Amino acid sequence: TTQVLDALLAHRPPRRLSLALSSASYDVVVGEGLIERAGALLAPVLPQKRAVVVTDATVAPLHLPALLRGLEACAFESRTITVPPGETSKKLATYETVVDQLLEGGIERRSAVIALGGGVVGDLAGFAAATTLRGLPFVQVPTTLLSQVDSSVGGKTGINTRHGKNLLGAFHQPHMVLADTGALATLPLRELRAGYAEIVKAGLIGDAAFFAWCEQHGGAVVGGNRAAQADAVMRACAFKAQVVGDDEREEKPNDGRALLNLGHTFGHALEAELGYGTLLHGEAVAIGLGLAFRLSARLGLCSGEDAERVVRHVAAVGLPAELHQLNRRLSAETLVSHMRRDKKMRDGRLTFVLARGIGRAFTERDVATEAVVALLREEGC
Ligand code: NAD
Ligand code: MG
Repeated sequence: TTQVLDALLAHRPPRRLSLALSSASYDVVVGEGLIERAGALLAPVLPQKRAVVVTDATVAPLHLPALLRGLEACAFESRTITVPPGETSKKLATYETVVDQLLEGGIERRSAVIALGGGVVGDLAGFAAATTLRGLPFVQVPTTLLSQVDSSVGGKTGINTRHGKNLLGAFHQPHMVLADTGALATLPLRELRAGYAEIVKAGLIGDAAFFAWCEQHGGAVVGGNRAAQADAVMRACAFKAQVVGDDEREEKPNDGRALLNLGHTFGHALEAELGYGTLLHGEAVAIGLGLAFRLSARLGLCSGEDAERVVRHVAAVGLPAELHQLNRRLSAETLVSHMRRDKKMRDGRLTFVLARGIGRAFTERDVATEAVVALLREEGC
């Protein structure tokens, strides 16, 4: 029956979400088999049937042939630039090779750059598109769950420098986002779960009904159910689109895009302490979500039961949910010192996204260090 269902779903029409920003308007298309049909979907929105695909060496053998077929079917002229997979490709040296290859191939101002891959490829190719010839048309074809629900929507592009992550970048909105949920079939389970953490986050920030949906269907999403995945991607993208539309360039200090950092103050501290690459970003955020709610409960903002619901759901989908699961000795003071170095902090005060309940997040710029330390100690630090 699952095969019959999948076959039926493959014919379910893709759904479209329209973003109308002051700088650009574009559609996020979510559905099955979009990569194969990329030429037909992109022809109406691109100025020219010429494109350079940027992808990574892991994604290329899996999904590049379908994309090139789809482009060729609509008479697109295309070529490909392949970078090594992984976060280390988000650096100046790789950016330089991408730009060199774009220019060596004689790119024109109306030719498009198509990012095929996860957030790494999207951020890198997007930054190359934003800067080459002062801006080329750009398309996102995100192939990880994280990039489908988070990095491909919103227009942030960039690379890392030796001073930190994402410190060199630009806002560059795509002409279209094609989130092909069929691409998730080849994604390792661990990556799928990590992306799911950002989906749960969306519900926890501003949509209690969506969090309740996650409690019911999260298992199906990480279990590979295509219909559940498409629904989750659609709802999480709609949420992010709404937040981005409200605060295109992250200028609102407290609400707007700042709320997307729920779970991230703890998460970034864990990533910094354990060394980037030990925990996936989404795994660190998963633990951070529970800690942000437990901190909110400790401060009397939400009920302890809300916090436990968050931790229970994160654990239920197989994500790390609590610090003790990391089997590492962590010092509360060291974690707090990482938080103070976080670039989002101002005047050395601890900023957190806290919640008055599920779906009711807000930014608090002056959280008492003692409360954070006490919580971390209770969690075993
Ligand atoms: P990623 O791009 O490194 O992808 C994870 C791994 O999965 C890679 O090894 C990749 O080769 C592989 N992969 C990708 N698609 C696959 C598929 N369909 N099948 C099998 N393997 C596949 O990581 P990510 O989690 O997608 O993105 C993380 C990056 O996104 C970080 O650099 C982060 O800073 C950035 N990010 C950007 C924004 C933004 O707004 N621009 C938001 C969130 C995150
Ligand atoms: Mg994140």
